[in-house]
Amino acid sequence: MNKTVLITGSTSGIGLAIATRFAKEGYDIMFHGLESNGDAIAKDIGAKHKVKVAFSKANLLKPDAVEGLIAETIATFGALHVLVNNAGIQFVSPIEDFPNVKYENIIAINMNAVFYASKAAWKQMKQQKFGRIINISSVHGLRASEFKSAYVTAKHGVIGMTKVLALEGAPFNITCNAICPGYVKTPLVEGQIKDQAKAHKMTEEEVVEKVMLVKQAVKEFVPVEAIADMAVLLAKDSSTTITGTSFALDGGWSAQ
Ligand code: NAD
Repeated sequence: MNKTVLITGSTSGIGLAIATRFAKEGYDIMFHGLESNGDAIAKDIGAKHKVKVAFSKANLLKPDAVEGLIAETIATFGALHVLVNNAGIQFVSPIEDFPNVKYENIIAINMNAVFYASKAAWKQMKQQKFGRIINISSVHGLRASEFKSAYVTAKHGVIGMTKVLALEGAPFNITCNAICPGYVKTPLVEGQIKDQAKAHKMTEEEVVEKVMLVKQAVKEFVPVEAIADMAVLLAKDSSTTITGTSFALDGGWSAQ
């Protein structure tokens, strides 16, 4: 029987690359995201790789919708082996102008939803004596940048939560790890380039060169495939002792 993976925010960007890679590996996939073509994306990938798929549009701002997403996954596939908490949003602004609602939404989606989803998946993973929770944090879970008070707070929080879940999961073969990418060229970052240009009063080209990639030793956006490869490794049966750790895929940013 195939293993089941739920990837939040898997109809765009990094999540989509992770889902595609897990499908290639023969996992059944619960797709999730707000994109209007999410159902079609899920069906295409399912047909191409001959795996079972489903799709949900649960709004991660709402704890009961997060719990519903986990319940729907277990009801549809009869299991939940791998949970990838990937969905996230960004907003860039100096703190004095940072709208409270943007702060609250970033904390809710990028951090609180990780708690609600992991909590809801816990019982099933314990019963299975198998669980792999993979949190997509960020280099901003390890380092700060100006104008990102909400995002940096949420991503640091996710790394703390990762460590706690690793400790609590150890007796049940539930591992929990975080992946911390540098900049990845996805719709989220394309939006940020525009926002940063405004905040720094620069052109978009200057933002990429002088703000985004300036802290990475490797002057390239992180390829989504590298993140997907890491997620597949963390999900393996043999990865029992890889837990509580954060993996920086950041072109050397956090080495400095
Ligand atoms: P993206 O914008 O391409 O995708 C985000 C996904 O999250 C989408 O599917 C979207 O529908 C979903 N989502 C957003 N708000 C939601 C909500 N309220 N309810 C349900 N789904 C919601 O972004 P991405 O760049 O692929 O980012 C994925 C993750 O990787 C995020 O957690 C992000 O913080 C993290 N990350 C991204 C980068 C980068 O450079 N792109 C770097 C480090 C970490």
